[in-house]
Amino acid sequence: MTTAPALEIRELRKIYATGVEALKGVSLSVQPGDFFALLGPNGAGKSTLIGIVSSLVNASSGEVRVFGTDLFAQRSAAMRMIGLVPQELNFNLFEKPFDILVNYAGFYGIPRDEAMACAERELKRAQLWEKAQVMSRTLSGGMKRRLMIARAMMTEPRLLILDEPTAGVDIEIRRGMWRTLREVNAAGTTVILTTHYLEEAESLCRNLAIIDGGRIIEQGPMKALLAKLDVEGFVLDIDGTLPATLPHVEGVALAAEDAHTLDLEMPRAMDLNRVFATLDAAGIRVRSMRTKSNRLEELFVRLTGNKDAA
Ligand code: ADP
Repeated sequence: MTTAPALEIRELRKIYATGVEALKGVSLSVQPGDFFALLGPNGAGKSTLIGIVSSLVNASSGEVRVFGTDLFAQRSAAMRMIGLVPQELNFNLFEKPFDILVNYAGFYGIPRDEAMACAERELKRAQLWEKAQVMSRTLSGGMKRRLMIARAMMTEPRLLILDEPTAGVDIEIRRGMWRTLREVNAAGTTVILTTHYLEEAESLCRNLAIIDGGRIIEQGPMKALLAKLDVEGFVLDIDGTLPATLPHVEGVALAAEDAHTLDLEMPRAMDLNRVFATLDAAGIRVRSMRTKSNRLEELFVRLTGNKDAA
């Protein structure tokens, strides 16, 4: 027997009442146990897609299945398998973390004894057990966000969805959340997150889809997508001044950043020495060099034309 995907989306479309076509026929598949990133610039359609999967937004057409269960035909059965971590903190700041979790479980009909045991497990996993009985208001920003994850895990969802969980938070807070999410995923929960932080997707996720303008423009294993980006970029510092006309090297893009700095893009498989030899013959002496940027960022910029990617 083959296992159904954790999430299967087919030809999903969303046209808002304003006429904005936020999703233009999106199809994607996330396998059980995966850590999946949905990556895209602002306005790409990420929140709309997550909104539909978490039943907050109505789709215009298409199909969504959660572990084989049709979301639109069997909404409550499908929703029981999903945990959602929204972008905004939405718990009562005047409650204690332990009570927030136990009360949340109560809302889902989980018996109190069981809920208390779950709350202990989830607070420990989120490294919040020492804070179980303090007023949530006093938690740090990172702790508050990890509490959101712990709460979503109370119903033991098979699929945890996070909508830009780290938008606007500093790197230390993000790393703390990554650690919790890795543990959640290692324990068997499929995790999907939307993000526009490329570093986050690259560090956490095994598979990703890149969405832009309401369409999936790339989808696959992170490694394969990075390998597909077969071009490497370098910045070369030059001794002296660059000539007015740069030499031509087949398959290599050369551009002067300024009179002493050269931007170079070349196929990953190409021998850098051959490029250096040609530069040398043209009187250009390379003093030092560095790689240009994060590879995923390059891929993203290339695919979406988004220059503000980082
Ligand atoms: P992202 O999460 O990737 O930033 P969104 O899904 O929020 O993208 O937005 C996709 C497009 O749909 C954007 O053009 C946005 O302005 C539009 N949109 C989002 N929500 C609504 C809404 N409630 N009503 C009308 N248009 C919307």
